[in-house]
Amino acid sequence: MIPYGRQSIDEDDIKAVVDVLRSDWLTTGPAVEAFEKAVASRVGASGAVAVSNGTAALHVAYYAAGIGPGDEVIVPAMTFAATANAALYLGARPVFADVGANDLLIDVEATESLITPRTRAIVAVDYAGQPCDYAALAALCRRRGLKLIADAAHSLGGAYKGTPVGALADITTFSFHPVKHITTAEGGMVVAMDPVAMTRAKVFRSHGITTDHRQRERQQKWFYEMQELGFNYRLSDIQCALGLSQLRKLDGWIERRRAIAGRYDEAFASLPGIKLLQRHADRGHAYHLYVVRVKKGGRAGDRDQLFTRLREKGLGVNVHYIPVHLHPYYRREQGTGPGLCPVAEAAYEELLTLPLYPSMTDGQVEQVIDIMRASLV
Ligand SMILES: *Cc1c(COP(=O)(O)O)cnc(C)c1O
Repeated sequence: MIPYGRQSIDEDDIKAVVDVLRSDWLTTGPAVEAFEKAVASRVGASGAVAVSNGTAALHVAYYAAGIGPGDEVIVPAMTFAATANAALYLGARPVFADVGANDLLIDVEATESLITPRTRAIVAVDYAGQPCDYAALAALCRRRGLKLIADAAHSLGGAYKGTPVGALADITTFSFHPVKHITTAEGGMVVAMDPVAMTRAKVFRSHGITTDHRQRERQQKWFYEMQELGFNYRLSDIQCALGLSQLRKLDGWIERRRAIAGRYDEAFASLPGIKLLQRHADRGHAYHLYVVRVKKGGRAGDRDQLFTRLREKGLGVNVHYIPVHLHPYYRREQGTGPGLCPVAEAAYEELLTLPLYPSMTDGQVEQVIDIMRASLV
């Protein structure tokens, strides 16, 4: 089976982890700070806070942005559930915006029409790795006094008009789950441009306590106080060492992802029943996912039929995503349902994610193309 995504772990990654296991600090040690500094510098942010996963990163980011009970947060319908769930964790309400029909990125006009006096923030999700229209989103947020948050779980290494993802929003979050661009097994990062948000994020990560164990040890102090109700969302030194080692390879991996996507584009552009997503020339696409649309009633039958056929032939194809407002929890608890975001709902029926990860060989890429061709014509 060729999976839709997977990690790449080399001997230097293993050595980095083993070195930490032999050191004094397994968590909240020097590797955490080194990884945070490296990510902040790579993405052009002024600071970074490492956390235990991408969902925790969203929770921390929304808290750092000042989101709380009664607030509304506008999120795209086409995303992983965590983007919306993190608003609920804080007693806020996620409001679902529809996406553009061709790129599946948050629709800026639809977003503007959803703003109310309770709206506090807009969350951009760089679906599949392509950055949203950040110029339009930032202008809208400025005009209406809102925070712009980027859920960049798909787009580490991407860019918008030359500016890296991470320096485009007030606060940006990343995930280091094994299918994402770099991995720490589980892990995430919050980066921000604003030092006040960074401080709030750091405190929230560790129980709402204002100093960490290492700082107190350095200062020969035991005293600490809990100022806020926070969580334990810390990422270990073992994981940060892995992340630091992985980050060194990010540029090469993005290049490889782009090359594979380019080969797929060339092969699938003329394939009957398959439609590619729109790519914007001013965006540096990070290609977390390679997604196509399977036109209904085409020769391939529908998406579900093609999905089954491809799985039988050993392709680990997948579907990203069922629109969040269609999940039973949201229907039941938030009263959402079909018709709320018709563009995302129509796209969902046609979406198919094909295998894409840096260690795919050229032979595997051609195998995917051959199986797709044989399944469609
Ligand atoms: C992966 C992902 C997350 C959550 O990340 P975890 O590390 O799995 O918690 C959030 N949002 C999006 C868009 C994702 O793809």
